[in-house]
Amino acid sequence: MARYIFVTGGVVSSLGKGLSSASLAYLLQSRGYKVRIRKLDPYLNVDPGTMSPFQHGEVFVTDDGAETDLDLGHYERFSGISAKQSDNITTGQIYSDVLKKERKGKYLGKTVQVIPHITDRIKQFIKSDIKNEDFVICEIGGTVGDIESLPFVEAIRQFSNDVGKKNTLFIHLTLVPFMKASDEIKTKPTQHSVKELRSIGVQPDIIICRCEKNIPLDQKKKISLFCNVDIKNVIQTIDVKTIYEAPISFNKENLDKQVLSYFKIKSKKNVNLNPWKKITKIVLSTKKNVNIAVIGKYVNLKDAYKSLDEALVHGGIHNNLKVNLVRVESDNLKPSEIKNKLKGVSGILIPGGFGKRGTEGKIEAIKYARKKKIPFLGICFGMQMAIIEFARNVLKIKKASSSELNSKCVPVVGLIHEWKKDGKTIKGTNKELGGTMRLGSYPAELLNNTLIRDIYRSKIITERHRHRYEVNMNYKDQFEKKGLLFSGNSPDKSLPEIIELKNHPWFIGVQFHPEFKSRPLAPHPLFSSFIKAAKNHKK
Ligand code: GLN
Repeated sequence: MARYIFVTGGVVSSLGKGLSSASLAYLLQSRGYKVRIRKLDPYLNVDPGTMSPFQHGEVFVTDDGAETDLDLGHYERFSGISAKQSDNITTGQIYSDVLKKERKGKYLGKTVQVIPHITDRIKQFIKSDIKNEDFVICEIGGTVGDIESLPFVEAIRQFSNDVGKKNTLFIHLTLVPFMKASDEIKTKPTQHSVKELRSIGVQPDIIICRCEKNIPLDQKKKISLFCNVDIKNVIQTIDVKTIYEAPISFNKENLDKQVLSYFKIKSKKNVNLNPWKKITKIVLSTKKNVNIAVIGKYVNLKDAYKSLDEALVHGGIHNNLKVNLVRVESDNLKPSEIKNKLKGVSGILIPGGFGKRGTEGKIEAIKYARKKKIPFLGICFGMQMAIIEFARNVLKIKKASSSELNSKCVPVVGLIHEWKKDGKTIKGTNKELGGTMRLGSYPAELLNNTLIRDIYRSKIITERHRHRYEVNMNYKDQFEKKGLLFSGNSPDKSLPEIIELKNHPWFIGVQFHPEFKSRPLAPHPLFSSFIKAAKNHKK
């Protein structure tokens, strides 16, 4: 039977619950166990797909097409396990399921209540789709004490009773602040947070204390005493210089050892921390660097392009280089400013995006990359913008655009049904917008003798998608005659997946999001190659 580890957070948000869970997953895996990680989010949106990056950071997409919380990205990057739709649920989804059931009369006239109906649905989620996993790590979003997270904490309390205490472990992550003025470490916020957790029936078994400095033994003893936790299970986590140090640091503090000891099981293998040590060393010591411009709408928002930022770092690790991100805000980016803003960059990247705002600036930047032969990577919206730029400036189709941006344009990018039927351009209606999003993994077939084939070294690849519009296949011949090749396409050849320029050292657009599959221990070949091209770019 699987053992369940529940991770809650206290005092403040952003303490690194996701990273702690992901690091623990790596350590347990490395010790020979099969692990699954899931996230329970307390907000009312049914999924984060509709949430603005301003509110919630990036939307992470799984192979099976779920739009999920960005923490699932951390989990994948650290554990190497591909997340699934069944690994993320929100309060909105839970209520929506319960209400649907209620409307169908499935509760047989009973009064539908938070306890037991909502909590039952949460427990059902925790147990669902588990096969031969040894450990299921469930991170509870939010902070203990929030109204929203109450039903989740209640559900995990019940769950522990249902499957037995010996099969469940509660980890609580809290803040142990250091007060500069008095030169002291304070345990009170942790005591209060644990008190809060205990008042709703959950006694933590392990407390992870996030702090700036080493916690002296006396303070650890205090936490142990007041929070009713074995001193060995008071585990400190000091701010690390790079996130890749986290698994090393948790192992040093015996987190994995204490988890196994709690469940009274032995390690099957020795933990292998060498890969993390190796990349930590590269990240911290490498002196050589390369400047990459990322041009987008939310570039100044920390988590809006989380997976992308990570994938670029991974590409740097592969090339033994530090990647400096030059974030360029696409809004109000004037053509006259491009040269100045992109001075000194060796690579230009346009990430995914939605809507008209900032597009003209992106198109100008692509023109600059094309003409100056600067390595360019266009991801999803970035590829669509590259198509528009080429259509306007090389094919001289002045009104070329995407029907997402202008309904009266020449749609070199449009909804599938705008152009798919009999090769004729057919206009869609707004009504058809919904349900046309292409989500999750799709295959692409790569042409021989192309840059992309050289990069992937494989004929068929699969990558994750999240978009509604497609490059219009009807213009393929016109583009190709002028040197823009559709070098990767859907196996039925109806959808362009990858474009590249013939007379350019490195210019690639992809309709999918390769960043979701890049991992620090396995950098994505597209990012490794892009960074290599940037390294070789002569300014
Ligand atoms: N807005 C574009 C579309 O829907 C691109 C989406 C994206 O970049 N993820 O097709």
